[in-house]
Amino acid sequence: MIALQQNYCNEAQTQNRVARRAGNGHPVLVLNADYRPLSYFPLSLWSWQDAIKAIILDRVQVVAEYDEYVHSPSHTIRLPSVISLKEYVRQDRSLAFTRFNLFLRDGFKCLYCGSGHDLTFDHVIPRAYGGKTCWENIVTACSKCNAKKGGRTPKEARMELRHPPHRPNLYELQTMGRKFPPNYLHDTWLDWLYWDIELEA
Ligand SMILES: [Zn+2]
Repeated sequence: MIALQQNYCNEAQTQNRVARRAGNGHPVLVLNADYRPLSYFPLSLWSWQDAIKAIILDRVQVVAEYDEYVHSPSHTIRLPSVISLKEYVRQDRSLAFTRFNLFLRDGFKCLYCGSGHDLTFDHVIPRAYGGKTCWENIVTACSKCNAKKGGRTPKEARMELRHPPHRPNLYELQTMGRKFPPNYLHDTWLDWLYWDIELEA
C-alpha cells in the first residue's frame, strides 16, 4: 500500500509526468476504494506496467479492461483500463453521491421490479412533495417503472420498493463492486467522466 501511495503521489506531482508515464498507450484510470478517481486535475492515471504490478501484488481490483493482452512466458494478462485500490487512501471527502455509486448501491437493478434495463433515477417522495435529492430518497428505477409511478409516492402508485433506500458505506459499495466482472460496469475509463457526476441536490 505504501508503495502504491508513493507511486500515486509521485505521479500526481505534475501533469507532464503523468502524461508521460501514461503516454505509452493504454493508460489505466486509478480509482480509490470508493470508486472515485484518486485525483482529477491531473486525472489519476498509471501506466499499464504499474497497474499490472499492482494486480499481481493483489492491491487493486480490476474494474474494466482493454481488448489487448500482454504476454509473459508463464502468463497472459488482459490489460486493465480501470482499477480500484483495495485499501482506501484517506482523503477529506465523503462518499460521493454519484450516478455510479447510486446504481452500485442498488446493484444496477430497478428497486421496484428488479429489471436491469434502461435504468434511471426515481425520487421516492416526488420533488413536488418536497422530496430531496439524497441517498435516502433516490432509488434506481427502470424507465418503465419510473413512467408508471410518475409524480406519485409509491403508496399512491401502489408500487412497492424492494427495500428502503439508505446511505451506503464504503464497505457496502466495495462488496457490491466485487460482484460485477470487469467491463460490466462500463466500457472504458472515459465513462467515468460521465459516471462520476455528482447528482444535484
Ligand atoms: Zn422497474
